[in-house]
Amino acid sequence: MTTTAVSTEAMLFEVDERPWAAYASCREADPDLFFPSPDESTDAAVRICRGCPVLEECRDWALSTRVRYGVWGAMTERERRRVLRRSA
Ligand code: SF4
Repeated sequence: MTTTAVSTEAMLFEVDERPWAAYASCREADPDLFFPSPDESTDAAVRICRGCPVLEECRDWALSTRVRYGVWGAMTERERRRVLRRSA
């Protein structure tokens, strides 16, 4: 797992703040998959996201709050940065 300044569980499952998180497919997954080291693959996390019923909500939240680390809504950190640069 990469070293980040965030708590994975807190990021993923703050249901009070993000009610859609109650339906997240990643609730049953290994959180480390979503916060890999730079040399680790994000493929497994992205696959889980693609089957997630709240993918759109998660992606919108991650982009609007500019979450820096992790895979959210089937998007990697790099993909989110690219989208945000284009929309700036
Ligand atoms: S889209 Fe991915 S990161 Fe977001 S809640 Fe679903 S499984 Fe978790």
